[in-house]
Amino acid sequence: MPLYVGVDLGGTNIVSGLVDREGRILCRDKRPTRQDLGFEGSLEQMRASIRAVMDGAPEPVRAIGIGSPGPIDPFEGMVLEPENLPAWRNVPLVRLMEEAFGVPAFLDNDANVATFGEQWQGAGKGIRFFLCVTLGTGIGGGVVLDGKLLQGFNGNAAEIGHITIDYNGPRCPCGNRGCLELYASATGIVRRTKERMERERPDTVLWKRLDGLTAKDISEAGNNGDKFARAMYEEAGFLLGVGLVSAVNLYNIEVIALGGGMAQAGEILFEPVRRTVRERGLPGVRDKVRIVPSKLEDDAGLLGAARMAMQRTE
Ligand SMILES: [Zn+2]
Repeated sequence: MPLYVGVDLGGTNIVSGLVDREGRILCRDKRPTRQDLGFEGSLEQMRASIRAVMDGAPEPVRAIGIGSPGPIDPFEGMVLEPENLPAWRNVPLVRLMEEAFGVPAFLDNDANVATFGEQWQGAGKGIRFFLCVTLGTGIGGGVVLDGKLLQGFNGNAAEIGHITIDYNGPRCPCGNRGCLELYASATGIVRRTKERMERERPDTVLWKRLDGLTAKDISEAGNNGDKFARAMYEEAGFLLGVGLVSAVNLYNIEVIALGGGMAQAGEILFEPVRRTVRERGLPGVRDKVRIVPSKLEDDAGLLGAARMAMQRTE
């Protein structure tokens, strides 16, 4: 049975895995990306990580799949200028990996491959119309339609974080205004919580944590009964729901998985998201969609990358 290598290239760590056709991870390697060594040193970390899982593989490795922070060009196999990978600029990563390992390599962005991993072995297992949303510093998304990962014509599909929530809203780094990630990402909820504290001087335990406030502080307070903190998650969940309605109506999605640190908040986030989608989605669409936590955490990227390599070579 042929094997595949999946690689999750991140700004801090590189995680590689040797994966079989059933989605079992036969071995795993995690090491720092070491951008402090410059591009060549960092690239060598990646080669070493892949070598570590390929050496001793019981069967031949047929292909390598890689998930990288964007922007990338998946069709040219190029890592362009990711903010999280300042040492990597316009890198022909697919060609470099094919030269180093003598097997075909494939590249897509990290949110897309993580979505594919969840659809293969996680919260979207067996689901043909699937959306995965990662709530972190920004909001990443990926869409699987009829079992295939949606890439878009030049590899920029599924940027759900930039759905417009308020056309007069604050400016987003992307150039648009009022994008979803300004409201419902971890960064967004922290910013809005601080703004509202300044404006309304609410009675909340968050005053004690104002320096270095995190989305986790807010969810912990909310889950411990702090009304203000709860209201902030209610608002973020509502706005996330408003954004998801657009995606659900557009693609007739069956399951949405929410991941990333903020999804750990649990029902104080999920309840307003589900309610909003139920209230605002189109009839025939809104009642069928299920909204669930994502399952795979750290392994989603490498599994999805391996799955992509498998699908492209079969
Ligand atoms: Zn934007």
